[in-house]
Amino acid sequence: MELSNQSITSLRKQLTSGDICSADIIGSLADAIEKKDGEIGAYLSHDLDAAREAAKTADLSLPLGGIPIAIKDNINVKGQPCSCASRFLEGSYTSPYDATVISKLRAAGAILYGRTNMDEFAMGSTTENSALGNTRNPHDLTRAPGGSSGGSAAAVASHSAIAALGSDTGGSIRQPASYCGVVGLKPSYGRVSRYGLVAFASSLDQIGPITQNVEDSALLLNAISGRDAMDATSLKQPDTDFTQGLNDGVAGMKLGLPKEYFGDGIDPAVRHQVDKSIKKLEAAGAKLVEISLPHTEYAVATYYIIAPAEASSNLSRFDGVRYGNRVENPNDIIDLYRRSREQGFGPEVKRRIILGTYVLSSGYYDAYYNKAQKVRGLIKRDFENAYQKVDAILSPVTPNVAPVIGADKDNPLQQYLADIFTISANLAGICGISVPCGKVASDSGSQLPVGLQILGPHMGEQAILKVARAVESSD
Ligand code: GLN
Repeated sequence: MELSNQSITSLRKQLTSGDICSADIIGSLADAIEKKDGEIGAYLSHDLDAAREAAKTADLSLPLGGIPIAIKDNINVKGQPCSCASRFLEGSYTSPYDATVISKLRAAGAILYGRTNMDEFAMGSTTENSALGNTRNPHDLTRAPGGSSGGSAAAVASHSAIAALGSDTGGSIRQPASYCGVVGLKPSYGRVSRYGLVAFASSLDQIGPITQNVEDSALLLNAISGRDAMDATSLKQPDTDFTQGLNDGVAGMKLGLPKEYFGDGIDPAVRHQVDKSIKKLEAAGAKLVEISLPHTEYAVATYYIIAPAEASSNLSRFDGVRYGNRVENPNDIIDLYRRSREQGFGPEVKRRIILGTYVLSSGYYDAYYNKAQKVRGLIKRDFENAYQKVDAILSPVTPNVAPVIGADKDNPLQQYLADIFTISANLAGICGISVPCGKVASDSGSQLPVGLQILGPHMGEQAILKVARAVESSD
């Protein structure tokens, strides 16, 4: 099998036994990118010559020694571009420092060679909001890969990346992983440092792995997690090896099925695949428990107040002075700000900034922002109550399979509503994983992947990785 098609775990074995060297992997990856990425468009940029150089000195004794990892274009890697798929930063911003996850990957021996496409500033669900190019779903080129980490998911799914990092503010790791048939993990809030991630909504953002399988996800989580003095919201945590106990099975585990997540509005074909994998978990000895998350119906509205509010504040740094592209010949400083932002941001980013500014403005702050914060508290409590009864929660990742490119172009609200199953985890700060659980035939004859979402309590990654591994191994 081509080296670029293999998992981290399998490549590591061959590297340490001396059967292959890191340069062989880079060579195979370069061929795969050359062959496939013209069509898929997963990458915004890459530097495979630098990767070949790095491969020569790779320390194979390290846990990710010699393994290339693709990085979403909103995570800073020193000396590489970081555009967030925005015209604002395109061509004008080179990262002057490494994000903490990047220093950690380097310390584990990984090679960082390429930047993946995304919705501009991570706002979106299809990667169509990228200002810098289109990404297609490797399972059906007429369809979107999901988003916002669509480039990372498409790269891993098309085997033009071994593994990748994404970021998840409301589902942006789990949803594209589901649409592309790969594994996507959103860690608990505080598990992974956000230092060096270009902030979208700071109280919701987490960086996490997108991989071919569950073991690789655990390996990458090992490498990137931990308390970091540069991010005050990162948490002290015991040194855990997340690959331990992966194959222990689900016998005796209590798995919750929230009745609010299995109502109307789910594509029956998606529902069928999800139900099938839930039955397999039951057959493997898990006890299924019906639970309720009563405030689910408010989650989308709550998220689409809090996330834009934080975004409007975070994106104020993009003013044409401190970062990014600046208009020529401004009349005055206000004109410079106004026109730089007008020209630099795409329509969805502008919509979020306007929405966020509105809900934070005096007179509306109490009616919207403050109320949303209270509802967020209730959503968090729903999960705390549920985890008194169950070890993890099962649900679809999305109500549908990957949409046809252009389908929701003029209907952002429709797109927002499809985030219903993923955003609560970010509001509550808990962890979640998407694992492939089947495929659905499309009208055009393609086979479209479906993901099962497993939500765990805060810092409960070991439990959800174990359940995900059980789903994976039941195929
Ligand atoms: N689709 C959601 C949004 O558009 C989630 C994005 C994300 O997780 N970055 O905000």
